Amino acid sequence: MTTVPARGPRGPLPTRWPLLVALVLAGLAAPVVLLPAVPGSAVDVVLTAVAVASALQLRRVARRSPEGSCWHWFARAAVLTAAGTALAVADGVRHHVAGTPPHPGVHVVVGVPVLLAGACVYGGVTRWNRGRSYAFDAGDHLNGLAALAAGTGAANLLLGNLAPGLVATWPVWRVQGWLLGCTLLVVLLGTVVTVATASRTLADVRLWLLGAGFAALLVVTVVGGHAGTPGDELLHTSWVAAVLLLALVSLRGHPVEAVQISHRAPAVGVVVLVALSVVVLAADGHGSPVVDGFPIAYATAAVALVSTRVVRLVRELAELAESRLQALTDDLTGIANRRALVARLRALADDAEGAALLVVDLDRFKEVNDRYGHVEGDDLLRVITGALEATAPAGSLLARLGGDEFALLLPDGSECGGAAVAARLVDAVTAVVRADARPLGVGMSVGVAAAAAGTLDPDDLLRRADAAMWVAKGSGGGLSVFDADADARARDRAALLADLTALLDGDEAGDGALGRQLVLFYQPQVDLASGVVVGVEALVRWQHPDRGLLPPVAFLDLVEEHGLMDRLTASLLHRAAREARGWRAGGGPLRVSVNLSASSLAHPGLLAAVDDALACSGLEPGRLVLEVTETTLMADPGLALAVARDLTARGVQLSIDDYGTGYSSLAYLTDLPASELKLDRAFTLRVLGEPRTADIVAATVGLAHRLGLRVVAEGVEDAATLAVLARLGTDETQGYLHARPLPPAEFERWLRRRSTPVAAVAAARA
Ligand code: C2E
Ligand code: CA
Ligand code: CA
Repeated sequence: MTTVPARGPRGPLPTRWPLLVALVLAGLAAPVVLLPAVPGSAVDVVLTAVAVASALQLRRVARRSPEGSCWHWFARAAVLTAAGTALAVADGVRHHVAGTPPHPGVHVVVGVPVLLAGACVYGGVTRWNRGRSYAFDAGDHLNGLAALAAGTGAANLLLGNLAPGLVATWPVWRVQGWLLGCTLLVVLLGTVVTVATASRTLADVRLWLLGAGFAALLVVTVVGGHAGTPGDELLHTSWVAAVLLLALVSLRGHPVEAVQISHRAPAVGVVVLVALSVVVLAADGHGSPVVDGFPIAYATAAVALVSTRVVRLVRELAELAESRLQALTDDLTGIANRRALVARLRALADDAEGAALLVVDLDRFKEVNDRYGHVEGDDLLRVITGALEATAPAGSLLARLGGDEFALLLPDGSECGGAAVAARLVDAVTAVVRADARPLGVGMSVGVAAAAAGTLDPDDLLRRADAAMWVAKGSGGGLSVFDADADARARDRAALLADLTALLDGDEAGDGALGRQLVLFYQPQVDLASGVVVGVEALVRWQHPDRGLLPPVAFLDLVEEHGLMDRLTASLLHRAAREARGWRAGGGPLRVSVNLSASSLAHPGLLAAVDDALACSGLEPGRLVLEVTETTLMADPGLALAVARDLTARGVQLSIDDYGTGYSSLAYLTDLPASELKLDRAFTLRVLGEPRTADIVAATVGLAHRLGLRVVAEGVEDAATLAVLARLGTDETQGYLHARPLPPAEFERWLRRRSTPVAAVAAARA
């Protein structure tokens, strides 16, 4: 249910009410006093005055009230009532002037505007307090008319059975006018009560006043009729009182927030009316001749009106169902959409049931759209939907979440059962893709997650199945069952990535956090022959505020994956050049080696970053070494060659890192203008115990020397290995034996302390 906003200001409505109250009270008192004593026309004059005053007040309120059209309808009722009484006055005057008796038809003529006024009051009550946004429901009038017909039919029946003598002398029109008037008041009273409860405006005192007024009028009309007071006079006197009551009620207006009335209220009303009509029809013939034929006529009219109302209601409900259906189905494929899936998940959660959920995402579907166009792409989606539908087990819900993403909900399903269904889905989709005449590379990734009975959280289950799907996609498609540990790691990495991005963005904004948190450690490279430190390798670390010092493995792949590496490399190049510029040992300045990743090598800004770092620090280009792994160089030899040439043209050195881990041949390296080869730690580790490895190292060193490359052995941890490496002709060594990577200040201290060459070096060389 939606709340209907009432427009305009809230609070008492502005009125010149003391004047009006005086007028109206005078009008009210007059008929009470005069009715028994004074001839009809004088009473009618007073009644007309009261009705006109009420109409004026109601029109004023209608123009200003924020409550929309209900006061317009009440004002119309007052105008019609005034017209009715004015007709009676006119007849009275005619009677007085011409001396002719009152025209019998005048009662009917007066009764018609009054009954129309009743319809207007009914229209006003049904719009009560709903604001201007209330859409007019023509069905409300059908309801009212049907209720009036059924009610009057029932009243005829009651009268005919209970008190046939009461109206035996009345003309037919008078009996029916009286019964119609009474029933109209009953209908109005019922409508007030229904509106107040269904639109939740019980707090509106005015509505209660109105209800009480209608009830009082009903009593007066019934009792008055019973006592034999002429029905028409009672009718229009009570109607004038009704519009007066409305005018009084309008004096103080405190609109109460209302809710739109649902379709349920009219539906209940229809059932009641049908029941009433059936009773009247069934009981017909048991009445008295006074009302002969009327009950059946009214009941028939009521049934006709109710039928029209039902047809309308059914049509509205069908439209509602249709729009609900549209809101819950996917336009393209006709299966459920995300909203429907979520609704079903919620329902399962509410019933404390368990479920398995599969999230399906097509791989490389974009290529189909790009190659064949969106129409064919849509076509393929429909074909795949068909395959999924045919494979989905009975009782499951297949939904398209959007794009090329689907979900299959298995109520009561387990992880295991979900995985089995997922495997069948993959097979089915693979089969239709393969059967397609077009060459399609479309695959499928499925994530499976489950929730046990009583633990289902729709959002969480969707998230877990989605996370599992991404794991499947990451490993090239197929299916993956949600793994809580892997998920925790993924979340942890996501958090780390957020920190990293913030750090790099903050650096661009100049907050200095990057300089404090991303630091370079330096590890010396020592000349084997002299034992003199000749260079340093700069190795990055992240001094994370919460996680402590993080090694490069903990974050570099994140940097690479998210395209942040070029920014990091540029910043580290600057740092390394600046920090290492003044370092000297054994009478000479040290080289500084910086590692380049694959993306840094390919990045068009690399050369500019190198130039910039050199220019800013004043480091001679020949002292800068850029390390690129063998694997990276081999991945795109053409690019590697071009970049290497550009670097060496500036005098910057290129080093082939991690040599031996890839499968390159040194032959390829003849073209590459590198100046250094770094033997991977895997060789260094085994060189002592495996003669074959020692042979390979010896051969590699020989070839490298012939190509003009110096050979640096990495990961040297003990003197014995150092001795073997020296014997095999290695030029330089790097490893824990000399020093672990150290922060700049500590490295400088280390450098100062180290005055004499390692004794073992000389011995091994000999
Ligand atoms: P790498 O270039 O092969 O660096 C040598 C790694 O071996 C360093 O690990 C170093 O601490 C470690 N190491 C040195 N001596 C020994 C030893 O005697 N024994 C053992 N067990 N290990 C030794 P680290 O600092 O953790 O760096 C790991 C990798 O991260 C580096 O491998 C490099 O590929 C990458 N990396 C480090 N800093 C950077 C950087 O600034 N940029 C880029 N793109 N990559 C970097
Ligand atoms: Ca390296
Ligand atoms: Ca290395």
